[in-house]
Amino acid sequence: MSNRTLTMIKPDAMKKGHAGAILDKIIKAGFRIVAIKQLKLTTEKAGEFYDVHRARPFFGELVEFMSSGVIIAAILEKENAVPDFRKLIGATDPAKAEEGTIRKLFASSLGENAIHGSDSDENAKIEGDFFFSALEKF
Ligand code: ATP
Ligand code: MG
Repeated sequence: MSNRTLTMIKPDAMKKGHAGAILDKIIKAGFRIVAIKQLKLTTEKAGEFYDVHRARPFFGELVEFMSSGVIIAAILEKENAVPDFRKLIGATDPAKAEEGTIRKLFASSLGENAIHGSDSDENAKIEGDFFFSALEKF
């Protein structure tokens, strides 16, 4: 089991000014920041990131949303990082997310759900390499 995961604070949460509060929750939950940056995805790069969803009906909406504003991407480290971070962020649909989770607190809808978390160790590695070079990971 790897100890790293990849997160993005999505454009909705960035625009609402929740980045600081979200990072505070992440750090207080015991995650160490290995790498972090602010950037804006193009529709092409957002499509590449979410390539697995290309055939889904919501793909166009997802890519438009993810390239609609700046995001913060970060690699996070903790024992059991992937499952523990998915627990911290809550269900994909904020209406179904548990109390106290980041999506329950900061997300408004299924499409605009504030934050991303890798769903496997394998994808955590691929997604970390998507955003960061070896020189940016500490
Ligand atoms: P993420 O990968 O962003 O962490 P997730 O793993 O919880 O989210 P996925 O199934 O990977 O959920 O879906 C990726 C993203 O696509 C979701 O976060 C959500 O914003 C969007 N999405 C998923 N299902 C729908 C849907 N039915 N309608 C609209 N948007 C959706
Ligand atoms: Mg996912």
